[in-house]
Amino acid sequence: MSFTLAIVGRPNVGKSTLFNRLVGKRLALVDDQPGVTRDLREGDARLGDLRFTVIDTAGLEEVTDESLQGRMRRLTERAVDMADICLFLVDARTGITPTDEMFAEILRKRADHVILGANKAEGRAGESGVLDAYALGLGEPLRLSAEHGEGMDELYHILRPVADEF
Ligand code: GDP
Ligand code: MG
Repeated sequence: MSFTLAIVGRPNVGKSTLFNRLVGKRLALVDDQPGVTRDLREGDARLGDLRFTVIDTAGLEEVTDESLQGRMRRLTERAVDMADICLFLVDARTGITPTDEMFAEILRKRADHVILGANKAEGRAGESGVLDAYALGLGEPLRLSAEHGEGMDELYHILRPVADEF
């Protein structure tokens, strides 16, 4: 009984910071496994008593011939297809961008379960960005600070019923 969570969103919203927080030191082991690509990093996450697989869509910023937009779309679609549930992160401090809207569209079409996370919302920072995020049409944004560990209780309570489902 386990599930896979994909952390998706544009570069610099804090996906890897959250991935590292959920996976902790176990990442070192994961990296040694064969078949782990740099584009999608997979790790064993722990959150309270929950154990699940987490995917970080890393490699979005790598320079290739492919356009950044095309690459983001392709990697995100791959992660979404691998996942039971997606955590879509936006940056509450910068607010919603056209790229966030592109991600929201992919997720609305392709993902079964989406949690919208407004990251970098430690303290009272990013209040207006959190409110902007409602316009993405993905429900109530979850206030998170991947860096400071805020919102992890709320994330747990959202994931708990998902864990029971799979
Ligand atoms: P990614 O490109 O989506 O994987 O984003 P990263 O995890 O690499 O984070 C991008 C930048 O945002 C880094 O400088 C992080 O330290 C910073 N960052 C991540 N989470 C938070 C947060 O909760 N609050 C603040 N203030 N900064 C954060
Ligand atoms: Mg990253």
